[in-house]
Amino acid sequence: MGLSYDAPMLEVSSPEARLVDELQAILGAGGWLEPSDALHLTVDYRGVFSGTPLLVARPDSVDVVRAVVRLCAAAGVAIVSQGGHTSLSGGSVPTTDRPSVLLSTSRMNRIVSVDPARFTITAEAGCTIEQVQQAAAAVDLELGMDWGARGTATVGGAVSTNAGGLNVLRYGPARDSVLGLEVVLADGEVFDGLRALRKDNTGYDLKHLFIGGEGSLGVVTQAVLRLHPRQDHHRTMFAALSDLDAVHELFAMACARDHGGLTAFELVPETGVAGTIGAFGVLRPLATVADWYLLARFSGSSSMDATAEGFLSDAVDAGLVVDATVAMTVAQEENLWLMRDELPPETLFDAKGAKFDAAVPIDRVAEFQRAVEAVTVEMCGDHAVVYSFGHLGDGNLHLYVVPALERGSRMDSDLAATITDAIDELLWSMGGTVSAEHGVGQDLLDRVGRQKSPVELDMMRRVKAALDPNDLFNPGRGAHCAPVPSTADQPTEEETP
Ligand SMILES: Cc1cc2nc3c(=O)[nH]c(=O)nc-3n(C[C@H](O)[C@H](O)[C@H](O)COP(=O)(O)OP(=O)(O)OC[C@H]3O[C@@H](n4cnc5c(N)ncnc54)[C@H](O)[C@@H]3O)c2cc1C
Repeated sequence: MGLSYDAPMLEVSSPEARLVDELQAILGAGGWLEPSDALHLTVDYRGVFSGTPLLVARPDSVDVVRAVVRLCAAAGVAIVSQGGHTSLSGGSVPTTDRPSVLLSTSRMNRIVSVDPARFTITAEAGCTIEQVQQAAAAVDLELGMDWGARGTATVGGAVSTNAGGLNVLRYGPARDSVLGLEVVLADGEVFDGLRALRKDNTGYDLKHLFIGGEGSLGVVTQAVLRLHPRQDHHRTMFAALSDLDAVHELFAMACARDHGGLTAFELVPETGVAGTIGAFGVLRPLATVADWYLLARFSGSSSMDATAEGFLSDAVDAGLVVDATVAMTVAQEENLWLMRDELPPETLFDAKGAKFDAAVPIDRVAEFQRAVEAVTVEMCGDHAVVYSFGHLGDGNLHLYVVPALERGSRMDSDLAATITDAIDELLWSMGGTVSAEHGVGQDLLDRVGRQKSPVELDMMRRVKAALDPNDLFNPGRGAHCAPVPSTADQPTEEETP
């Protein structure tokens, strides 16, 4: 992807030029970047959305964030917050329809405190998930959150997108890891909710407005996250499925074996295995080749060997699994998780078409996949393939319909839109959602508008209007910006999840 700089024309004495001067003065040396020096921050991870800010602000403290917010609010210039810039829904790129400042948290990356007695860690918003994981591991504890972008994605981004990932089965999404938050509001005041309490029934729990708020209500500057006793015993398994329809029964079997110990239950397609072998040097885990595989992990404070073996032998006896392996060495374990981390087609194939971060009730995952395959054949014949993988145990499939699993393969945008509509209808008819964990960003506005009821959208708009009346933060992104569709476009009562 070639990056070019589309410089906004600023007259020397214009209000925006003055704002840039004032911001540079309060941010100081190293505290800001010219957009032309930060092109990688202005195009999203998938190369779909881009925008040019007036300035990239890199504050290093909550007080500087407050000053940036006050100056931008006074000048009527929007602020788009950015953490690791791994958003898959276009949430972290500057606006194109209004002048904006890109507020990067990259310099707010300190672990403030680790408190093993309370099982908590306090981290600045720009700390990466991996940094927090490492700080927790240093005191023999672990963070619940984990996913492939752990080395880049940040605490602020994870909180603001209510990120999911690989451990949701056991630890829940980001929301379940957050005990307290500090947030700079649109008037420059600070919401100091940095409490480390498990219980606090004193009115609305305001932190939840910012979790999953996609940066639309404030700038998250710090979070108190909950930690868990480290599970030193893991067994990761890779199993060839006899049929995709086996997955629901398999999940029930794994939960019955050790519900609390089941930490991952992921679906892997053969096309993904073959792709990661070619592109990332993954070693084929099993000689048996099947259309679909299960990647599962049990974790606990004592050996998981009997649990893993018991689960797999039940699964083979029931005819749900045709072959399986258990990782017995660190290298084998790493090989399996490398394969899982590299499954997203954005890097693996760079093929683009219709993309879904879908969730359906867990017992309908296989039915949903089959229905998508049938719709794709009906609409495209042999000219498209369905590529799916994901967090099976959460009913969450990352699903792509693309012309071919080949680098540079692109689907015609009208066809992609038509397929998206048809698959969304399927999703809603099964009680599903168009965004399981990646958020709405700019990408899903129309689709969310069709999923949510007018009442729900109106409630979200009223929250936004109360906390950010001048639409300072992340304008045009998030569910509250979804257009209300005409009545004819809305799902029927049976289709509404
Ligand atoms: C390879 C890969 C794998 C992924 N796997 C998963 C997965 O399994 N599960 C999952 O849920 N996601 C996944 N993602 C998506 C992404 O990593 C998450 O959405 C993550 O939470 C984004 O964090 P970030 O720091 O990169 O945020 P950004 O991309 O920078 O921003 C995301 C949103 O949060 C807002 N934001 C960021 N920081 C702040 C802040 N301090 N205050 C207010 N708003 C803020 C931004 O404005 C934007 O709207 C994956 C992405 C990649 C590239």
